Amino acid sequence: MKYPFILALSLVIAVSGCSSNPYKRSNKMYKKQAKELVRTLLEVPAVQPYGGKTAAYPVATTNFNLRQPTSVIIHHTAMNSCESTVRAFTRPQSKVSAHYVICKDGTLHHMLNDYLRAWHAGVSRWGATADINAGSLGIELDNNGYEPFAEAQINSLLALLARLKSTYRIPAGAFISHADIAPGRKVDPNAHFPWKRLAAAGYGYWYDEPVSQPQPGSLDSYNALDGLRLIGYDTRDSAAAMSAFKLHFMPEDKSPVVDDRAKSIIINLVNKYKQ
Ligand SMILES: [Zn+2]
Repeated sequence: MKYPFILALSLVIAVSGCSSNPYKRSNKMYKKQAKELVRTLLEVPAVQPYGGKTAAYPVATTNFNLRQPTSVIIHHTAMNSCESTVRAFTRPQSKVSAHYVICKDGTLHHMLNDYLRAWHAGVSRWGATADINAGSLGIELDNNGYEPFAEAQINSLLALLARLKSTYRIPAGAFISHADIAPGRKVDPNAHFPWKRLAAAGYGYWYDEPVSQPQPGSLDSYNALDGLRLIGYDTRDSAAAMSAFKLHFMPEDKSPVVDDRAKSIIINLVNKYKQ
């Protein structure tokens, strides 16, 4: 009796395991593309005339490893289901992707090897870095753009961040949002995102509370944009930079006005992390 049962069970597993994955085709394409990259990595740098005397022969160093991710960018998908996002990232014509997608129920899809470059940041800047995709990991949270983030989803995110932070030694300040790196162009993740909770766990900056009440007029000469620039914001569009800052650190305040509270928070962040 035992054997037929085991046989039936393995058949069920085999059938469900094979036929239930609708992404077999894109998984195959992934492997093909990865193999092409491996071929690039295997090439020893050729001897090339760079203006001076050309070397007589190629010589490769023996001391190297893979470049590691140095930052994590958090997004919301602005789509109506996790399935739609995952599907979009498997379609070559969409030209967008992320390393991870986290569904509302906490399900994690790891869609791209951490060492490879995903296409999630677009035109962005943080500090002196403009090609954010080159060194970052992209995490997309299933969210339509306006709703709160599900607890199971945040718990799954926190577990993932713990692994990424320890594996790649990513500093706390390098956990940032898409809105942070693309002021005026992106607003994700939305104002419901729990940055304060994340910062308490070691991901991203947060200011000391309560915020000190400055004497009226005492901060009039303080240039808030200088502070935002020190934190990392692209301040070429000053209103957009202030809006991005407020979305992250003062989500209850929808106005881009630079008031004393915003200045106090910026000063606190700069003194805490950038001195
Ligand atoms: Zn985004």
